[in-house]
Amino acid sequence: MAQVRFEKVRKAFGQAVAVEGLDLSIDHGSFVALLGPSGCGKTTTLRMLAGLEFPTSGTISIGDRVVNDVAPGKRDIAMVFQSYALYPHMSVGENIAYPLKKHGVPRAAREEKVLQVARTLQLEHLLARKPRQLSGGQQQRVALGRALVRNPQVFLLDEPLSNLDAKLRAHMRAELIELHRTVGQTFVYVTHDQLEAMTMSDRIAVMREGVLQQYAPPREVYDRPANLFVAGFIGTPSMNVLFGELVGEGPRMQIRAPALALPVSVRGDAPRGRRVALGVRPEDVLLGAGPLEARVRLVEPTGYETIIVLDVPGGSLVTRAGPDVALRIGESVPYDLRAERLHLFDGDSEIRLEAEFGRAVASAAA
Ligand code: ATP
Repeated sequence: MAQVRFEKVRKAFGQAVAVEGLDLSIDHGSFVALLGPSGCGKTTTLRMLAGLEFPTSGTISIGDRVVNDVAPGKRDIAMVFQSYALYPHMSVGENIAYPLKKHGVPRAAREEKVLQVARTLQLEHLLARKPRQLSGGQQQRVALGRALVRNPQVFLLDEPLSNLDAKLRAHMRAELIELHRTVGQTFVYVTHDQLEAMTMSDRIAVMREGVLQQYAPPREVYDRPANLFVAGFIGTPSMNVLFGELVGEGPRMQIRAPALALPVSVRGDAPRGRRVALGVRPEDVLLGAGPLEARVRLVEPTGYETIIVLDVPGGSLVTRAGPDVALRIGESVPYDLRAERLHLFDGDSEIRLEAEFGRAVASAAA
């Protein structure tokens, strides 16, 4: 069983800390995405697991073996990179067979294995072609084939789809999900694309500036973001944030923001500074009726939905509606918030607060 574990892992390049205090446990057979903006440390994390970088401190293990000092070739892993660099002078079949040849696997066994992998990836009819005679997606599949052929326990994928166009990416996402199901091994997948992380993985590790922010299944990361950073990073358009103040005590507590007042009951201690951030996903701003009022600033039809930017006192709110919504810029519209799906964060520490909300009213009416 190839459970992957990072314990208190730190990686510094001179003064620059790329990864700090990383504790992460990846179950055997699961698909985990390392997600975060450029420079957050996800590639360094993957490269440490591959053995291409050594941790400054901490322990990395695969199964029950600590691999800190194990050479990359002895870790039973395979890595697929963004630039999949196939050998241009070799055919597809030879490219896939190459890792086996390097390990001295006899020809007959090689050919059998290549065929099996080509079947899994639907490359059988392309085995005689050279890489330049393939589409980007096909080339990416050959790169996957080269990783698969070795039967590794852990697959490491570093932004493998980022060179592909949008349509092909969507197609390859589905293929990777299918591939993971077929081979049943552990996949660790680096991406800065939240859609890839959300659609493919069992769990997402969201990183920021070298520090793990949240490690949870996609739905939980979306529904219960651990802090304001995760809340803003996951979801398109991003979650709306209204800053306000907590007033009152106990069951009579309220959030007061320029746009609204909202009854709230906070589980545990209310933040000491009393500054809070109210998080509202675009789909939880309900247009058309309600006690609140906004002015339409922008209407952006995308074809299958319309993104609407509203001006509200003290800021703006983004919401989404159907493709046929008829709104004029400058028009005043009533709206409501879906109380059961709101989020609350400490305005200073930015950490999530567990809370229940009542119905919002306009600030002036409170
Ligand atoms: P990207 O999506 O841009 O690849 P990332 O999240 O994968 O970003 P890393 O490549 O892991 O981020 O880099 C994390 C931090 O460590 C960055 O600040 C980067 O500049 C730094 N870093 C990475 N490799 C080195 C190196 N070899 N020497 C010095 N600093 C490095």
